[in-house]
Amino acid sequence: MSKPLEVGDLVMVVRGKKCCGVGTHIGKIFKIARFISGPAARCWSCGKPQKAVIKAVPPDIHRSGYSLYRLKLIPPLSELERTKEEEGVLA
Ligand SMILES: [Zn+2]
Repeated sequence: MSKPLEVGDLVMVVRGKKCCGVGTHIGKIFKIARFISGPAARCWSCGKPQKAVIKAVPPDIHRSGYSLYRLKLIPPLSELERTKEEEGVLA
């Protein structure tokens, strides 16, 4: 399951920032409203310069987002149901 994330996908923040591992917002669930090309900037936590990366933006945030490596796709309910049914057959 490695389809690229798309607008409208439900995702959860599962990792901290790569450079210093700060885990803000871990567990936050949101629907991707859009993608932005995050500007090259300094990490607000440790001050290390950060490369510009694509970020997924939640609907309630306008100027910032989450780098894609921090996110995990939450499969649509229909897919969860299907998995459950398949497991039921095996059990
Ligand atoms: Zn940092």
